[in-house]
Amino acid sequence: MLIMNSIHWTYQSCNYVSYRMNRCVNMIARLFNAPLGDTETAMGVGTVGSSEAIMLAGLAFKRNWQNKRKAEGKTYDKPNIVTGANVQVCWEKFARYFEVELKEIKLSEGYYVMDPEKAVDMVDENTICVAAILGSTLTGEFEDVKRLNDLLVKKNDATGWNTPIHVDAASGGFIAPFIYPELEWDFRLPLVKSINVSGHKYGLVYAGIGWVVWRTQHDLPDELIFHINYLGADQPTFTLNFSKGSSQIIAQYYQLIRLGFEGYKNVMENCRENMLVLKEGIEKTERFNIVSKDVGVPLVAFSLKGQSFHSEFEISEMLRRFGWIVPAYTMPADAEHITVLRVVIREDFSRTLAERLVADSLKVLHELDTLPSKISRKMGAEDFGNVKGKKVKREKLMEVIVGWRKFVKDRKKMNGVC
Ligand SMILES: *Cc1c(COP(=O)(O)O)cnc(C)c1O
Repeated sequence: MLIMNSIHWTYQSCNYVSYRMNRCVNMIARLFNAPLGDTETAMGVGTVGSSEAIMLAGLAFKRNWQNKRKAEGKTYDKPNIVTGANVQVCWEKFARYFEVELKEIKLSEGYYVMDPEKAVDMVDENTICVAAILGSTLTGEFEDVKRLNDLLVKKNDATGWNTPIHVDAASGGFIAPFIYPELEWDFRLPLVKSINVSGHKYGLVYAGIGWVVWRTQHDLPDELIFHINYLGADQPTFTLNFSKGSSQIIAQYYQLIRLGFEGYKNVMENCRENMLVLKEGIEKTERFNIVSKDVGVPLVAFSLKGQSFHSEFEISEMLRRFGWIVPAYTMPADAEHITVLRVVIREDFSRTLAERLVADSLKVLHELDTLPSKISRKMGAEDFGNVKGKKVKREKLMEVIVGWRKFVKDRKKMNGVC
């Protein structure tokens, strides 16, 4: 009802909504331990999602870096940003749209997040920031932001570059503060200057809301803020889009106030428990390796054990018959030969559903065991049945993956990872 009542408003046209938005920014900044006095107002803004939030945070870093370089009389035309190869596509968009080189740390088999050592090694004088992810989209794993911070502090002391950190906490921002309060990943670390979080992921709001908050107002260059007064009062704005619906802001405000810290904590604990039930069920089938970690975003990412002559893509395809949409995807460089299935546990994913998913996966596995491999038939390749039990070379696996991608694409059915 709250959403319907506010559906016809943009958030700028109504002081009531701007006020609510600022309240949300303050609550979120405090949740992330921004160094604010009791009466101080936090710096941040509501966005369409984490993607817009990341564009804004990235722009602020780029501008700060340029200003610093100009003041030092140095060149400022080759900015770069350091991330893991596991970043969400919005970072690639930021890099391309705003002309910043993306320097990605490659992954390796068994290690699917950014390695802080390698990241700090890659930092140079043109690095506008290092972006760490709290909850990798692919496996839910939290990157070690504390270690990154400590290594970067040392490097900054030695070089004088002052390279800052942004934390992309799209999923983890509403998880870690509630169930891993000891984990230091946020503004408790001095180099973390901005953080984004999606309201429509674990913020428990419908699609269309994200947040970006800055450590202090000095971390957001003033020249990026526009002041408008034609709607009746001075309104500072820093967004890519001018108008934006107000209903999600109202909904976010409602959830924060209605659930409070304890409410969110209960929801997240529940998600975590259901994740563990699902994980144990999948482990019990003895057919899968679990790729996700127990500490992280509550999701289960898993891949087939050994060299099965069926693929994760086939399992994903067959689970659809039972009404499940479980995406299968390959890992980024240099772990492209690994394919995983991923189940994200949301608030409405109950224990009963977790048990049913395990039972349906078993049915799919039994059925697949009686079928010849679809890939070998589709690809017209040699008999993949021979491959079973043997150590398959990486090239062979890549062939299978490429074949499957083509097969899925030809049928105009692509699984997205979002
Ligand atoms: C989902 C996600 C994004 C993009 O967020 P949207 O709110 O969908 O725009 C960015 N980064 C990570 C790590 C994500 O998981």
